[in-house]
Amino acid sequence: KKYVYSFEEGNATMKSVLGGKGANLAEMTNIGLPVPPGFTVSTEACTVFYENEKQLSEEILVQLQEKLEVLEKQTGKKFGDKENPLLVSVRSGAAFSMPGMMDTILNLGMNDHTVLTVGQKTNNMRFAYDSYRRFIQMFSDVVLEIQKYKFESILDIYKEKNGCKDDTELSVENLKDIVEEFKNIVRKEKGLDFPESPQEQLILSINAVFKSWNNPRAKAYRNLNDIPHNIGTAVNVQSMVFGNMGDDCGTGVAFTRNPSTGEKKLYGEFLVNAQGEDVVAGIRTPKSIDELGSVMPEIFKQFVECAQLLEDHYKDMQDIEFTIEQGKLYMLQTRNGKRTVHAGLRAAVEMVEEGLITKEQAILRIQPKQLDQLLHPNFDEKTMEQAIPLAQGLPASPGAATGRVFFNAEDVVRESANGEKVILVRRETSPEDIEGMVAAQGILTSRGGMTSHAAVVARGMGKCCVAGCESAKVDEELKIFIIGNERIEEGDYISLDGSTGKVYKGSIKTVEPELSGHFSILMEWADKFRTIGVRTNADTPRDAKAALRFGAEGIGLCRTEHMFFDEERIPVVRRMILSETTEQRIASLKLLLPMQKSDFKDLYTVMEEKPVTVRLLDPPLHEFLPTEEKDIVALAKDFEISIERLKETIHSLQEINPMLGHRGCRLAVTYPEIAQMQTRAIIEAAIEVMKEQNTTIVPEIMIPLVGIKSELDYVKSIVVSTAEQVKEEMGSSIEYLVGTMIEIPRAALLADEIAKETEFFSFGTNDLTQMTYGFSRDDAGKFISEYKEKNIMPDDPFESVDQDGVGKLIELGVKLGRTTKPSLKIGVCGEHGGDPKSIEFFYKTGLDYVSCSPYRVPIARLAAAQAVL
Ligand code: ADP
Ligand code: MG
Ligand code: MG
Repeated sequence: KKYVYSFEEGNATMKSVLGGKGANLAEMTNIGLPVPPGFTVSTEACTVFYENEKQLSEEILVQLQEKLEVLEKQTGKKFGDKENPLLVSVRSGAAFSMPGMMDTILNLGMNDHTVLTVGQKTNNMRFAYDSYRRFIQMFSDVVLEIQKYKFESILDIYKEKNGCKDDTELSVENLKDIVEEFKNIVRKEKGLDFPESPQEQLILSINAVFKSWNNPRAKAYRNLNDIPHNIGTAVNVQSMVFGNMGDDCGTGVAFTRNPSTGEKKLYGEFLVNAQGEDVVAGIRTPKSIDELGSVMPEIFKQFVECAQLLEDHYKDMQDIEFTIEQGKLYMLQTRNGKRTVHAGLRAAVEMVEEGLITKEQAILRIQPKQLDQLLHPNFDEKTMEQAIPLAQGLPASPGAATGRVFFNAEDVVRESANGEKVILVRRETSPEDIEGMVAAQGILTSRGGMTSHAAVVARGMGKCCVAGCESAKVDEELKIFIIGNERIEEGDYISLDGSTGKVYKGSIKTVEPELSGHFSILMEWADKFRTIGVRTNADTPRDAKAALRFGAEGIGLCRTEHMFFDEERIPVVRRMILSETTEQRIASLKLLLPMQKSDFKDLYTVMEEKPVTVRLLDPPLHEFLPTEEKDIVALAKDFEISIERLKETIHSLQEINPMLGHRGCRLAVTYPEIAQMQTRAIIEAAIEVMKEQNTTIVPEIMIPLVGIKSELDYVKSIVVSTAEQVKEEMGSSIEYLVGTMIEIPRAALLADEIAKETEFFSFGTNDLTQMTYGFSRDDAGKFISEYKEKNIMPDDPFESVDQDGVGKLIELGVKLGRTTKPSLKIGVCGEHGGDPKSIEFFYKTGLDYVSCSPYRVPIARLAAAQAVL
């Protein structure tokens, strides 16, 4: 079996074998770009490595040797050679990009002999020793697992001793001493001499990359991003080119479009006389890529051409790493660039306009869940006028964030679990900080550029980030940071504007964002492709308006009980519930009628002629009653009954399993007058608004929690007789629909029966999931995370619908329902209506629409289009 591939032998489609980096290096090689030659040890070799007790098998070692010889021929250099030594980089690269997860080793092949040859050949001893000390540092970190700071502190000591600001100022003699000191560290820490043999260095390095696949950081990243653990990483071995040989050298990274805004303009950074990670590590502050045009005009021109070629070739925004060695440009990596959703939308829309991609491709390129970020708040402009920035950093990832300052991931995770809004402040972030970055509202770093770890990761998460705020002196140990005269301590409030890079003291009010033109264009395209409707769950005109702005086509679920919790109404509601006779109850309901009616009128007015589905009262009644002593005392006084008696009544309403108790249509069976009042409010409101606005409204009345056909018949007869009475009273011929929720498994099983008496179905997948699993949805949180950790259940069935079980009931319900009534309109309300994976399933099942919370409407629209494509 083939385990090792020369770059010439691969291509971009081979990501699963060669990893993303290797496949793209091969592709670039084959389209004629200047890529230093090399080869890739495949991900399959990684799997074999783990099967073989973490050793490279004989077969792999033989192939490795072969490709090494090919590489020696291609470069005219040899490992450990006296005349012309070959130096390589060892670079990890899995099928999915895992930034910063596994480290790269540069300058491998350096030893006490080759360093001299390199120095003599290049006539630059300083460069040779600088490369050597970097190699020892990286190798010791990645392969020997000696802590980085041990080496860095030696460098710091030498810099200080010699009054150097940058490490470029260290002399050859300094560097020679440093190399010796580094080797001593290795001896002290590991009790062995630093390996001199390049062969041995290479094999140890490949082993280390394979091992790093399973380090805790890599595992955490994979868990976070749903990347399987068993696919392994590839290793790329590539001949070195040097960006650190002098001022005609350099290294950099660039995006073909701006990854924050999407603007079609080269965007990136470079450093003269620097190697590899210098740009991203934030050791020196890099220059903007535009400046390369004045520093090295010829190279810049070439680079612009390469970048354009790559974008045209991959038909997507590219994130490119390059190095310049003595006036010659080399491409070292390309991949599809991570971008903010703003940038993703703009680039997708503009690429369609440029004729680079199709509308379908543009739609598929945006992850529906990412749209969430667009809908999230920015700082209130008025408040901002008065706000005085403390400091200016780099606008690394847009958005606004306010919160209390904490200085390490652990504290951030803890505080945010306690409900605090938290800002993570660090000198710079590293992969160990990922969990903290997830939990934080925003991230502030004092070091690093636009492509630093913090910036890249935050953009990927859509999290507000200000990076490289150099005027902030961060002390992570003392848990303070100082800007000028200001001292910010742990727990203090600050605010970050990730779009301008400004940092403010205190908390700043945030406001809803404006939606961009590119957003609407893409959403319009999505609407053309999708076949499934998108409604919203809304109970108030405010929610309804927001949902309309996001493109909702109607209300799929109006929960009437939410209208009952209003401060003015709750006393009347309580009086109604605590009534001892039907007459008393009817009297209270009379007071509630105009209130409910005005709610519905407002909703109809906002929704115009769009469908509005109103659900009759659903929760168990005790939810409306007071629980605290002082509220009970007040209520008793108000009702002029004794506290004891009130407590007794409250007690009598309590249930052991309220979610399986006296709720839903069961309430309408025992208290028909409640359903009557609600029906009257729904129909009267519609008739009045129709007259006022001269429109046509067809109210949809939805009966919840039906499990028995005759139960539905009973409640429906109440609804219909009331509605007909209202029509007669008001001389109206209004049409209305009566439908039912399918949320009890029995209803799904008998959907053909139920469908006889109903004009629409709406799957209440929250309750349906709860009842199908027998998991109380209010308590399941306590154990579901453990189920996920122990791999008993891959997903939380309350987030993404369980297609195997609950899904089977939905499929059956649809099939049976439509056997009775082929044109039966069927929707879904509940959390799953806004979940992309579930939406794809609902589309396949043949539902007519989904209904979700207003902020998820755009997500649903896009996901519905993607389901079709
Ligand atoms: P990462 O996956 O963390 O980006 P890379 O494997 O891309 O790691 O390596 C990081 C950097 O090291 C590259 O951007 C490049 O600057 C430098 N590098 C890697 N291989 C070589 C090489 N053969 N010659 C010169 N520089 C290299
Ligand atoms: Mg790295
Ligand atoms: Mg890279």
